Parts: sequence; structure tokens; C-alpha cells
Amino acid sequence: MKILVLNCGSSSIKYQFYSLKGNHILAKGIVEKIGMKGSFLKHEKESGQKVLFEGEILDHKIGIEYILGVLSSAKHGCITSLEEINAVGHRVVHGGEEFSESVLITDEVITTLEKFIELAPLHNPPNLKGIYALKALVPDIPQVAVFDTAFHHTIPQHAFMYAIPFALYKKYGIRRYGFHGTSHKYVSDRACELLGVDPLATKVITCHLGNGASACAIKNGKSIDTSMGFTPVEGLIMGTRSGDIDMGAVAYIMDKEKIGTKSASTLFNKHSGLLGITGISSDSREIRAAADKGDERCLLAIKMFDYRIKKYIGSYAAAMGGLDVLVFTGGIGENSDVTRSGVCEELEFLGIEIDQKINIGLKGEECVISKAGSRVKVIVVPTNEELMIAIDTQNIVYKKD
Ligand code: ADP
Repeated sequence: MKILVLNCGSSSIKYQFYSLKGNHILAKGIVEKIGMKGSFLKHEKESGQKVLFEGEILDHKIGIEYILGVLSSAKHGCITSLEEINAVGHRVVHGGEEFSESVLITDEVITTLEKFIELAPLHNPPNLKGIYALKALVPDIPQVAVFDTAFHHTIPQHAFMYAIPFALYKKYGIRRYGFHGTSHKYVSDRACELLGVDPLATKVITCHLGNGASACAIKNGKSIDTSMGFTPVEGLIMGTRSGDIDMGAVAYIMDKEKIGTKSASTLFNKHSGLLGITGISSDSREIRAAADKGDERCLLAIKMFDYRIKKYIGSYAAAMGGLDVLVFTGGIGENSDVTRSGVCEELEFLGIEIDQKINIGLKGEECVISKAGSRVKVIVVPTNEELMIAIDTQNIVYKKD
């Protein structure tokens, strides 16, 4: 089966084209600067050969026309006709309370997703644009939505509720939804597979540490809590998002700075986190380089970042009544030995003991980094959300047949 996986953002479309015979990528690429000057498509074939197309890519539909065009082109493509695409899988950020798993996209599903625009105003509209475009261009190819929120459907009510008037939950759906679900599920399943343990009898904490970052408590294969909440701004400190903050401070800042909800949202989503603390960068590599030269705020940001993760690990171990496996993933989790060390420092009391001989220098590889005798197994698993989306898409379309 050949599956096209799409991740449609506000001005970009990332794609990977999979052959699920052997799980390999036939081609991948990105359309960037949609609707702006200088838009382009960057395409890479399985052989590694790259090609760049510049053009006026005014909207998502044109972007997808470019992608379908290059995939089926005689010179750069990997299929002779679009009929070879068996299905398209979309990363959809918000599935609300409705979708607990991936779903075949029908008109009814589209109508429901349109209702969730209110819950994810930045993310769901571009996801929908990709769906509309495919429907218009190749209506016979089945499309599947794979949700960032779906894996967290198993979080019990006492963990997903906020302690606000119950009526507001009922009226507006204000609750923890959680995100990065596809990644948490993938790395947790993969970690259990690599360690040879039964996921249905294992307590796992996954730390997805990228520009966006979240932790997840997975007990016996089910997400029982996660750090992102009603929106992706809650929880861990991120590249530009604050993570947890006293809402009293939010109200105070809005009052003092005389800003409304839009500006406040921009402040806490785009100007906070590592960027806000350091004033230099949201990129952990740049912050690390400045810290190595003695920059005090970068040193502080690193300490805050690691400390917040450590607190979540402690609280999730308590929430699950124990811990068997700790997983690091995402750009920082996969590549930064110093972050992994900083987070695990002084967690020996929980049974977490890292083997620095293995940890130091390890980048982007599946590897157990705990000492042989460590009660908790600590493991690095590079995430692969696209493969997970491709597999889910295949399963849904197959079930339909
Ligand atoms: P996104 O959430 O946008 O998918 P990524 O998972 O790509 O983000 O993670 C981006 C973060 O990973 C950045 O802070 C970057 O500095 C960090 N990162 C990427 N590669 C490395 C590396 N080799 N060493 C340390 N940090 C890295």
C-alpha cells in the first residue's frame, strides 16, 4: 500500500510518501511560504536526490497540486499515475471529545472538524484546507484524519478536568485535551517493543522535547495524564511557550500592560519559554552554546527547563503508583545528552540511573541509556509520527474494505 502523509500548517505543507511494504519512504518534502512571496516546494526522492521548485503557491490547494504533480512526474516522481496513491493520512491537531481514534474522512467528519476550529484556531483550519483540496483534486482517494488529541482520550475525568465552574466545561468544553498523542503512543509502544516488556503491564513516562514539549503518563498502554492541556501552552517550558504559569500572573500582566486576549495569547505562546527567559533564542542548541560561554540567563533557562520536566516525572510516577520506563524523544530529547542528564540528575531515589558512558554523545538513535542495574529503564526513541499516521491510515482504509 502507498500512503501519502500530510501535515498542513498555516503557511506550509510537509509530506511523506510511504510504501508500507517494508515501511520505507518513497519521497518526502515541504511546500513553504504558501500565500507569500518566494513560495517553493522542496522535494527529496528515496535516493536522496533533491529538487527545488519555485512558483506562486497562493493557497493550500495549489500547494497540494504541486505535491501531486511532483510525485507523479516522469523526471522526479515515484509513481506513474495518481491512482497508485491508495490513501492520504492527515495530521489533524484537534479531535475534541468526539474522536478517540483515527477516522475515515466523510462529509459528516468534516462538519464535526469545522466545529473544532474554535478549539484550535491556529491548527485545525490549515488541516481542513488540506482535506478540502484533496477532496476537490482526487475525490476517489480515501482520506483519514489522525488526531494529536486521540491517544489522550483515556485520561480519566478527575485528571482532565480543571477546577472551574462545571458549567464552563459543559458549555465550552474547557478541559485538558493534550497533544503530541501520536508521538507519545509511537515512542511508548516502540520502547516496550525494544525492551521486550508487555505494554499492557508497564508504567511509562514519555518526554517529547522539541520546540513544543510535553510529557505523558502511560499506564498499561493508556495515556492517563499529559502536560499540555486545553491548548498546547500548558505544562513544560517550550521554545516560545511559557508552559505552566499562575493565571493570576496572566491577569495581572494583561492589566498592567493593557493588553487584550489576542496579545496575551501571543505573549505566552510566541514570546515566552526559552526565548522569553534568554532573550536570545528559542533554539536549545544556541542557548547551550551561549551558556557554555557563561551567559547567565541561558544557564537559568536550562535549569528551569530541566527542573520543570523533573517535576512532571515525579508527579506522573506518583499518579501511576510507580515507573518502569522513561522515554526521551523530540529534537532535544533525542539529541541532547546534557538535557537527559540534567533531567535525570538526583532521580536515583525513583530508580532512574543513567549510564553516562552510553548517554554522552548519543544522538538520534534508539538506545537504552540506563545502567544495567537501573530499576527504571531509560531509553531514547526517535519519534516517527508520520509512519504512525501512515500505518493508522492503512488500518482504517483496510477495515473499511
Ligand atoms: P518541533 O517541535 O518543531 O518538531 P524538533 O523536535 O525538531 O521541534 O526540536 C527542535 C529542538 O531540538 C530545538 O530546540 C533544537 O535546538 C533541538 N535540537 C535539534 N537537533 C539537536 C542536536 N543535535 N543537539 C541538541 N539539540 C538539538
